[in-house]
Amino acid sequence: MRVDYRSDTVTKPTPEMLSAMMAAEVGDDIFNEDPTINALQQKAAEMFGMDVGMFCPSGTMANQIAIRLLTRPQDQVICHKYAHIYLYEGGGSATHSGITTRILEGDRGRIRADEVEANINPRDIHQPETRLVSLENTANKGGGSCYPMEWIDEIVEVCQKHSLKLHLDGARLCNALIATHQDPKEYGKKFETISLCLSKGLGAPVGTVLLMKEEYYWQALRIRKMFGGGMRQAGYLAAAGLYALEHHVERLADDHKRAKILGDALAQHPKIASVMPIETNILIFEPDTKYMDNTEFIHQMAQKDIHMFPFGANYVRMVTHLDIDDTMIDYTLEAIKQL
Ligand SMILES: *Cc1c(COP(=O)(O)O)cnc(C)c1O
Repeated sequence: MRVDYRSDTVTKPTPEMLSAMMAAEVGDDIFNEDPTINALQQKAAEMFGMDVGMFCPSGTMANQIAIRLLTRPQDQVICHKYAHIYLYEGGGSATHSGITTRILEGDRGRIRADEVEANINPRDIHQPETRLVSLENTANKGGGSCYPMEWIDEIVEVCQKHSLKLHLDGARLCNALIATHQDPKEYGKKFETISLCLSKGLGAPVGTVLLMKEEYYWQALRIRKMFGGGMRQAGYLAAAGLYALEHHVERLADDHKRAKILGDALAQHPKIASVMPIETNILIFEPDTKYMDNTEFIHQMAQKDIHMFPFGANYVRMVTHLDIDDTMIDYTLEAIKQL
């Protein structure tokens, strides 16, 4: 049995999702004539209480469009030191937007209002102008941690006080909603832009919707075109996202339950030194180097066809998702026992 915990991006469309894709009505989206893309954008915007959505080929592109949209060259963006926009987008924000990034220490991938405020540059010609704050929810490298709504509200207040824009990298926002029971419509009130990934836990093969206020839409379309992200009959892809939003959100609770079961087993194992608190579908842990390092752990599991990634220092990351079932969990628990 092959069990793949490397990422929640490895899922393949279910037969029902594929049927929805095959049956999609499509048109040329550059002419705004793809009814399925329009339906997806509208559904996502309504769900989060935002004005409009814009379908993008990837989460990286959606984040990069948002940064370009909300900053000017020479500006500075504040984010956590583990942020995807800082670590995993190929330095894109420096290239595409000509900005620098101020990274904060935070707590498991999340930042707090007081640390944001303390890192806003004064008005001084020597210093880059602080323009944008970017949050990530859930925070990937923070072990899938979630923002309490009070933390977000406090950051919104600081942003308003200092005229800063606020972006949310919501690659796993639906995981956060399911784990915290927050109201998605609250999010639309607080952020200028939100990227909502459809190809992570939601199980679509491709796509992210960038949600935004109406006033940004025209300029966002122009930037997407310039970045090469304008697509034509991509309604076939949007249909998968639409299906995912309708059928794959509530079930994220199963992924979270399974991550917790694995995490509990690892926490009790004598050869595991520590496991980060598990809030959603991501597990980050550290083997005890008295027995083995992360490379050795990953190697031993791979011999049983169970796959995961090293995640900096001595850490290992496992992610549960749509294509992980209870049989695979039992098989993994057995393999952990035999370590
Ligand atoms: C995966 C991910 C993205 C976007 O990734 P793409 O592979 O470009 O779709 C953005 N932010 C976070 C936190 C992610 O985990």
